[in-house]
Formats: sequence, C-alpha cells, structure tokens
Amino acid sequence: MIDADLYLNKIDFLTYLPGTDCKECGESFCATFVKQLKMGRLTPAACPFLSENSIRAFQLALHADRILPKVPALDLPRPALTGLMEVNRADHGTLVLVSGNSEFTQEVLSGIMAYTLSPFWLLFVDCRGDTVDMAMVYQSLKVEKISTTLAETVLQQGQGRREMILPGFAASLREPLERQTGWLVRVGPLCIAELPLFLGDDWQVPQDLDLG
Ligand code: SF4
Repeated sequence: MIDADLYLNKIDFLTYLPGTDCKECGESFCATFVKQLKMGRLTPAACPFLSENSIRAFQLALHADRILPKVPALDLPRPALTGLMEVNRADHGTLVLVSGNSEFTQEVLSGIMAYTLSPFWLLFVDCRGDTVDMAMVYQSLKVEKISTTLAETVLQQGQGRREMILPGFAASLREPLERQTGWLVRVGPLCIAELPLFLGDDWQVPQDLDLG
C-alpha cells in the first residue's frame, strides 16, 4: 500500500516560536532551533518562552508520523458521514472545525483529536468523499455546501462564538464563506498535525502526554 501524503513536511514550526533569535536555547537563530528539533537533538522545552501546553503541541507535531494513522493514497472517493459531531462536550461558545466527508480524512482527524481535552464541533461537509486536497482540485468542497450543512445544525440558532476553521487547502473559500455565513472564518494549517500549534490555548493537550 502506498501511504497518502499527510503533508507533515508542511508543518511550519518557526511560526510558533518567538522569533527573537535570543540564543537562550543555545542556538543562534529560531530557525536553527527548528532544525535541531526535527533532528531530535533538542526538545521544545529548550526554548524557555514556550508554555507547557505549547511544548506538548510541538511534541505532537514532531511525532505526528507516530500519532496519525496511515491511510492509502487512493484516487477513489470514500464517502463517510456528514453533519455535526461534538467533541469533549462542546457548546455554543466552541470553535467549529470544518472538514470533508472522506473516510480517510475523518480517520486522520480522529487520530489527532485523541490528543485534546478541549471541546470542538466538527462539521463534516459533503465533498463526495474526496480528501480535502483533492476536493479543492475537483471543486467538490464548496462554500454553498459548507453554508447549507452549517444551517442544518443547532449552531445557527442563538448567539454563539460563530467562528470556524477551514482546512489550509480550502483557503480560497474563506472570504466567500464569511460573506455567506456572517461567521468569522480562519484558515488553518495544511497539515492536521499542526492544528494543536495553530490553535494554541484553544487546543489543550493532555498533561500526561505519552508518545511512547
Ligand atoms: S530560545 Fe526560543 S526564542 Fe530564543 S533563539 Fe531559541 S527558539 Fe528562538
């Protein structure tokens, strides 16, 4: 089986460091600190400016190849469920993460969701079962479908947080989706393993994180 590309090489670690090149970690630049992290020569805790939660988020991203399930690189769509799914007792103040209805996408998303204590709503939108990257190529993930799926949920009633995160590959949908829904729409990372870093305090990693 040829494994699907989960875009682990697209994780932008540098964005989540202070960027001051202060040398307190022993490296001259934050960028070289990232290189050392990737080679396993330093750990995230060597930067004294990272919070405990951020250190754990770095660890998740650095070990994503162990955490995320391997899924096959198939062209064929694999449609799975659509609609709203609650994680960790979400309520009207909770962020919405938008995704597609590929069985493989949902499997990988479940893999990283196992590493948060935070509540989320997952909005699975019908894109014919294409993975999100392919859904953008085939134009099967559309603003109208996201908006319609959202409108069918309890989240459209009342005044909640009204903020959603789009997968990085769907960045081109952000503006029209904001216009259509009136929600704040942010564009997340290309790699799902970067999500804990991207969301910061909105993604609480368990303190007893054990990566084996
Ligand atoms: S200690 Fe942190 S902020 Fe300072 S150079 Fe190292 S990585 Fe960058």
